[in-house]
Amino acid sequence: MNCLICGSNNISSTDTIVSDFVMARIAPNEKENYKTKLCFCKECSFAFYEYRINSEEEQALYRNYRDSEYQKTREKSECWYTEKINNLLNNDSTSINEQKRVIRKILNDNGITNIKSALDYGGNEGKTFFDEIGTENKYVFDISGVPTVKGVENISDFTKLSDYKFDFIMCNMLFEHLADPMSLMGTLKDIGDDNTIYYIEVPSENPFVSGNKHSISKNLKLVFNPHFNFFKLVKYYFKKRKDPFMTMHEHINFYTADSMKKMIDLSGFTCIDIQENEEDTAIGRQTVLSALFKKSVGM
Ligand SMILES: [Zn+2]
Repeated sequence: MNCLICGSNNISSTDTIVSDFVMARIAPNEKENYKTKLCFCKECSFAFYEYRINSEEEQALYRNYRDSEYQKTREKSECWYTEKINNLLNNDSTSINEQKRVIRKILNDNGITNIKSALDYGGNEGKTFFDEIGTENKYVFDISGVPTVKGVENISDFTKLSDYKFDFIMCNMLFEHLADPMSLMGTLKDIGDDNTIYYIEVPSENPFVSGNKHSISKNLKLVFNPHFNFFKLVKYYFKKRKDPFMTMHEHINFYTADSMKKMIDLSGFTCIDIQENEEDTAIGRQTVLSALFKKSVGM
């Protein structure tokens, strides 16, 4: 197995399986969970699962994302994922406002202004926009077909993307889900020009980074969250303890600042800034990695 970002074969890995929930979505008739490995690249510090979902599995996993069928299927194996939690996540204005705050911060820190035309790649309804980004045009590219909010235009036809000129292209909370992140970097490169500023945001939850709060504090937060049933949760954690380490869920890529920079450099871009910031969400606080970059000169 080679690193999906830098191509190195200097990889350490730990055996695990695809989670019950992902199995129920991508292969509901399968008797046993697929085996996989959680891999860590010792060269660039990127972590990822060896099993890569194909495009049909990807569609099955994300179709009608967070609708009631998704919620019910998920609650069967993850008791904390109640209807209430699903609704909270679907209407999480806290995390959208926090995301805006972080984007505004990294743009201000780097003196980036005058963003007339902006695209949110994979941006659902286009709720992440704020006044300063896309002062003339705000666009979303999203295949989900959800209607966009007022003032945001949906470009649903992929082939049309290169007809537009974008001063800013952002891609929030998508790269951690992608089977082939380098391929999307190529796509993003094709749809921007030499002056386009790019922004990527992912959770900072690489399980191999020492001091990473990934499992323990997050899990504790879930237990003490007033929205959850404590006894159900205790039962859930006893079951979880029998599972292998970090069964494969929706997040299949785990970045660090180093691996993010590597991905940007190797795709023909130059980093402007990479930051780690905290964001509040409806169900707790998370650390996010934000990268700002543009095309390398002459690439
Ligand atoms: Zn690597």
